[in-house]
Amino acid sequence: MASEPAISCVVCGTEGAEIIPLQPQDFEYRVQTKRNFSVRACRNCGTQFVHPRPTPDELISFYPLDYHAYNEDHGRVAGPLVELRAKMRAKAFKRLFPDKTIRLFDVGSGDCRHFVHMEKYGDFSFAGVEIKPEMVEESRRKGYDVEFGTLEDLDIEPYRQAFDLVTMYQLLEHVLDPRQVLEKAQAMLSPGGYVIGQLPCLDSIDYRVFGPYWAGYHFPRHLQMFTPAGLKELLAKAGFSHISVSSAAHLQAGLSLQNYLMGRFRYQPVMKFGKTPIYSLLLLAVAPFCLFEYVLGKGGMMNFMAKK
Ligand SMILES: [Zn+2]
Repeated sequence: MASEPAISCVVCGTEGAEIIPLQPQDFEYRVQTKRNFSVRACRNCGTQFVHPRPTPDELISFYPLDYHAYNEDHGRVAGPLVELRAKMRAKAFKRLFPDKTIRLFDVGSGDCRHFVHMEKYGDFSFAGVEIKPEMVEESRRKGYDVEFGTLEDLDIEPYRQAFDLVTMYQLLEHVLDPRQVLEKAQAMLSPGGYVIGQLPCLDSIDYRVFGPYWAGYHFPRHLQMFTPAGLKELLAKAGFSHISVSSAAHLQAGLSLQNYLMGRFRYQPVMKFGKTPIYSLLLLAVAPFCLFEYVLGKGGMMNFMAKK
């Protein structure tokens, strides 16, 4: 019998990742992949990742046009929170650079609606890169300098040391080569600049409670699920210092609960943008749980920040 070639962890490079016994399912958009993927766990840093790795073409097919990041309607509960979040981020960025126009590059900038919100609270100059052509068009129509494609493919020569902040929210878990993405971000920052982002956290109560239904899997779009230890190691390898990783205030467990109801109880209503009609209710229902895990530092989503 032919033995499987050694599989290396996409974050730390350790060989011999173990198979996680779960059948990856797309609860939100029911995207069917053309081949079977399994989930592996690194024995060193605990990162879980999809294997085999999809090709760039396959990757694009994982994002339907009704993908939630591409729609304006967040619902009654999430909508105001999204705007509040942009305000809090803008204020936090101003505290880092109080006396200047902040040059910010966002990776996976979508339609740049967050730029519109943030501009109300500070002096920024924005740029970004986005994989969806319709979103790039919309961003340029709004007047933003947004490149089409991925950061992995982007020629960053014109952008070397050009930014104070490179942001990547819900991004590193989607990319084929997270180390390359962070190395390029590092090259684009001025000395003293920061990379800042957010992504799902495996070392969370959310993951432990929901297991295969955990929203952090977001199969097949999430290619790696990080632990704080793995993320810190990757940031250090990409040349960053002053690395901090902490629980984020987030209601991701609402989506985990939605996945659980759909997978376990065959709840299959008509969905809009990957959300069931009771999604807003689910967010309210999980709010105390999310507060609890956040207070314990074991939230399903984590923030990171690191300095060049
Ligand atoms: Zn690893």
